[in-house]
Amino acid sequence: MHNHIKIKTGDITKEQVCAIVNAANSSLLGGGGVDGAIHRAGGRTIFEACKEIRATQYPDGLPTGKAVATTAGVMDASYVIHTVGPIFGSCGSECKTLLASCYSNSLKTALELGCKDIAFPAISTGIYGYPKEAAARIAYQSVKEFLDEGHDITVYFVFHNDLDKSIFEESIQGL
Ligand code: ADP
Repeated sequence: MHNHIKIKTGDITKEQVCAIVNAANSSLLGGGGVDGAIHRAGGRTIFEACKEIRATQYPDGLPTGKAVATTAGVMDASYVIHTVGPIFGSCGSECKTLLASCYSNSLKTALELGCKDIAFPAISTGIYGYPKEAAARIAYQSVKEFLDEGHDITVYFVFHNDLDKSIFEESIQGL
């Protein structure tokens, strides 16, 4: 295991890191799953910041694979980095690249913000239906490639339960 990568079970809204990543939808206006949990925990200022980004930068919505940062509101983190994962089955062979982009673009955004640590949920593996094993390998490879470029940032993969954590750990064996 790369020494800048940590794997844990927990509620990502409680992570004490510089940036937590939100598996948002392209509207940026909230949704279910981890998106709903982040907006509930962080409060209204996140929604207001997302609305502003929609109005000024992405009137048609944030494209899949891209990332933008907002305040984390009243959560312990300083920032929420919102990224839109691919909906499995809607992007054919591009899904893999798009999911990898979520991780690399979120990491780039965190570095621009001066972050030394970041926590990711398992993007696209809930409502968006990405198979957890494949998503794990893509997530891990994408993060590892980024870290191998020499960037000094600690990356936490935060799973909602122990089963998802062990699926991830098993799926990345040998990578
Ligand atoms: P997507 O629409 O990208 O599939 P979801 O929010 O439906 O996003 O699910 C992504 C992952 O986030 C799922 O594995 C889900 O179990 C997990 N998740 C949901 N709530 C939390 C939370 N509070 N902390 C960490 N992970 C969470």
